[in-house]
Amino acid sequence: MTTKTLALDGPAGSGKSSVSRAVAQRLGWVMLDTGAMYRAITWAVLHANIDLEDQEAVAQRALSTAIEITTDPEVFNISANGEDVTRAIRSPEVTAAVSAVSAVPEVRELLVQLQREAVINSPFGIVIEGRDIGTVVLPDSKLKVFLTATPEARAKRRSLEVNPQADNQMIAQTQEELLSRDAKDSDREHSPLKPAQDSHILDTSELSLEQVIDQLVILAHKTYS
Ligand code: C5P
Repeated sequence: MTTKTLALDGPAGSGKSSVSRAVAQRLGWVMLDTGAMYRAITWAVLHANIDLEDQEAVAQRALSTAIEITTDPEVFNISANGEDVTRAIRSPEVTAAVSAVSAVPEVRELLVQLQREAVINSPFGIVIEGRDIGTVVLPDSKLKVFLTATPEARAKRRSLEVNPQADNQMIAQTQEELLSRDAKDSDREHSPLKPAQDSHILDTSELSLEQVIDQLVILAHKTYS
């Protein structure tokens, strides 16, 4: 049986992670957070004090880092060479460095292969989220969705997730960080962030999390019924 797939892409703070987890739970599927994989390699690169400009050393470090990631939507865990990095990959240092690491072609090749293996090993269905899932990882996926939202909505959502008391200044700072990461992810030569031609584009700025989840579950049922 071929695995049912939902390829979910979008910029930072578009709500992909929360949405994928909930959609996978509702459908009884597994999920894969590919951003976490790029973050884990970035953590390993920083941990080894490698210069981010040295693409060859970054690629070598990626090749010598074994990533293990859970796909159960109820539990999330990721490790790099046996070390649990579930929390460490969300640090500001990793967030600031991840776009440089993910622009290295060898890093992408390695992770795309692992991501395709995770799909093959999923017995029923998988929600797989990232930046290049519909365009590169699973170009033949029957269901592709690209989530968008205004920079203001994304910054507000992301800031409140991290700190429910976030004020306007914190939100403005988060917006700057998100836009700078989007620019790097969209302008890179290999697998830039962009919607696949055949993806459903969903602007979530004015939608609640529940409304987005409902729409994706409906699309999945329509596609795979
Ligand atoms: O989704 P998240 O914000 O955790 O992703 C972190 C970074 O990983 C992105 O800013 C991007 O540089 C990279 N990424 C990527 N391709 C993916 C998923 C994430 O290049 N499929």
